[in-house]
Amino acid sequence: MPSSSSASSTFQLEYPTCNCGKPSSMRKSKTKENPGRRFLGCGNYEKGKKFWDYFYWIDPAPKEKQMEDNIQALESQNRALLLKCQERENFVQELVKENKELKKKLVAVEGVMVSYK
Ligand SMILES: [Zn+2]
Repeated sequence: MPSSSSASSTFQLEYPTCNCGKPSSMRKSKTKENPGRRFLGCGNYEKGKKFWDYFYWIDPAPKEKQMEDNIQALESQNRALLLKCQERENFVQELVKENKELKKKLVAVEGVMVSYK
C-alpha cells in the first residue's frame, strides 16, 4: 500500500503554471491604466522584460469606459440644458422688449387722457 502523498497538499491557491514551467503568482498592476488591478503573471518575470510569458487579469477592467460614457451622457445633457436656458433667456429678452413698448404706449395713452381732462 503506497502511503498517501495527498497529506502534504496545502490549502494554498494554486495558480496556473506558465509555459516556462514556473507557477504564476498573483501581483498587482502599478500602471496608470490599471492601478491596483490584480493579475496572475509568470513567476519568472523579470523587470524590464517586454511581455509576460503568462499573464491573466484577475480583477475586471476598470470602469473607465463606463465612466467615459457617463461623462459623455452628462455633457450632452448639459448642452441640452444650456440650449433650454438660452431659449428662456431669449424669451425673457423678448418679454422685456415687449414690456418696454407697452410702457411707451401706456405713456402715450396717458398723455392723450391727460389732454382730455
Ligand atoms: Zn514563465
